[in-house]
Amino acid sequence: MTRLFLLEDDEALAEALAWALEKNDFAVTRAATLAEARKLLAGGDFALLVLDVGLPDGSGFGLCRELRAAGSAVPILFLTAADEEVSIIRGLDGGGDDYMTKPFQLGELCSRLRALLRRAGGAAAPQTLRSGGLVIDLPGCRVTRGGRTLELTAAEYRLLCLLVRHAGQTLTRRAILDELWDGTGDFVDDNTLSVYVRRLRSKVEEDPGAPRHLLTVRGFGYRWEGEA
Ligand code: CA
Repeated sequence: MTRLFLLEDDEALAEALAWALEKNDFAVTRAATLAEARKLLAGGDFALLVLDVGLPDGSGFGLCRELRAAGSAVPILFLTAADEEVSIIRGLDGGGDDYMTKPFQLGELCSRLRALLRRAGGAAAPQTLRSGGLVIDLPGCRVTRGGRTLELTAAEYRLLCLLVRHAGQTLTRRAILDELWDGTGDFVDDNTLSVYVRRLRSKVEEDPGAPRHLLTVRGFGYRWEGEA
């Protein structure tokens, strides 16, 4: 998972963005004000920053300049309103890497973020995962089996991606909870995880009663077996 920091004061937009980004395998930490952002950025190690420009307590450009002045090279993409477009040069001159004008297509945002990551020298992320008869199309957040699309919720999708990426390894319940829900603000406990696993199994296994891929390792957690 790529750790991404999202600063956006429009609650509905932030919510929608976080949901879409998480489906695209980004672990999203959110803030709605500069003050909150400064606090979270000081304590976190993020691979990417997505910053709104107009915020209740200042401008995203200002935050970017502060970070660059402090020596941070983290890739930054600005979200700007159409009437702010004239000032975008200022943002890019101030150390930003890219920008998108609202409203924008989420798909395009994700491709641009990936491009920024590649330019930043991160290994290009794979676009497709294949395991256990499933094809996971990461840019499209789509899982298919034999050409048929499986209807997964965001939580089920993220859980599946995590297990498949670690195919053959047993992941403890604790590790799964930490990896997928730590810092998201969502409260997910042990029982909820069991429910997610059960639902996911009912969708990805041909016979959910006798799973061949999503295996329970009693007393530890879960393991994905690609070949069975
Ligand atoms: Ca705003």
